Amino acid sequence: MLQLYVPLNFLGVMYRELKQSLVDVDKMFTLLHSSPDVTDAVDAVDLHMAQGKIEFKHVNFSYNQNRQILHDVSFTVAPNTTTAIVGKSGAGKSTLSRLLFRFYDINSGEVLIDGQNIAHITQSSLRRAIGIVPQDTVLFNDSLGYNIQYGRPDASMDEVRAAATAAHLDDFLSRLPEGLETAVGERGLKISGGEKQRVAIARTLLKGTPILIFDEATSALDSHAEKAIQSAFDEAAQNHTTLIVAHRLSTIIHADQILVMDAGRIVERGTHGELLAQNGTYAAMWAAQQDE
Ligand code: ATP
Repeated sequence: MLQLYVPLNFLGVMYRELKQSLVDVDKMFTLLHSSPDVTDAVDAVDLHMAQGKIEFKHVNFSYNQNRQILHDVSFTVAPNTTTAIVGKSGAGKSTLSRLLFRFYDINSGEVLIDGQNIAHITQSSLRRAIGIVPQDTVLFNDSLGYNIQYGRPDASMDEVRAAATAAHLDDFLSRLPEGLETAVGERGLKISGGEKQRVAIARTLLKGTPILIFDEATSALDSHAEKAIQSAFDEAAQNHTTLIVAHRLSTIIHADQILVMDAGRIVERGTHGELLAQNGTYAAMWAAQQDE
């Protein structure tokens, strides 16, 4: 009994930590397949992916009864477009991505993918449709190639290489004598935060999901690393419906739509140019970041 209890307890602890930080969600779901906080409806059907349209309609949400976190949040992400979510720490940005993944059920409103309410579809099919590039990716003590192939274990080495190229890893790989065979992690090469996030992008691209969520790292990166991630993001976002939780506004100026959140509400929305012209919260955030 103890033997069974220890791993289950460990999984429970790991689940809570991962859910909070969105760290390596894929790894978690290969272990658990579903979230204990939500259950499939008895008549749940698999998601039928069409174009990859995301809709939040009048979503209200609280993690617990004491405090409402999201207030009447509505927005649409058109297929193959990019929406960025910005706002102060604690505004509710990551919560939106957690709800799209259905880590939690909402209090009222609807979250739809291609017109299907995610509360009525199977969690496994929902999670197959969404790839997440977390803020901080956990790499296995194995080769770089293995770490990318983990996105889709039956992918060929050619497909792994193509994903690495799309994630702008070629330069980095060409500097390593063993290329994709290079061992990383505690027992291998230590790689930078920026390189790690590009490995995560390659992994997620290989998974081949129509919807992508990027959780931009809050930690500062040097401008070279930031540019490399930016190019990798931009390339990955092509032909995907993409949601970016952004901390640096410079990374999202080309987004099709920017949602500005404050205390769980969308207070402004538009393109970078439109929001600057409004001269409101976004324009103030932009000005503040220019001064930094
Ligand atoms: P940051 O930029 O710092 O990542 P954020 O805008 O992504 O912030 P969220 O993580 O979405 O903010 O959190 C929104 C609010 O919900 C915060 O007040 C936070 O304290 C609260 N919150 C987040 N996770 C939980 C949880 N598991 N239980 C209770 N409250 C939570």
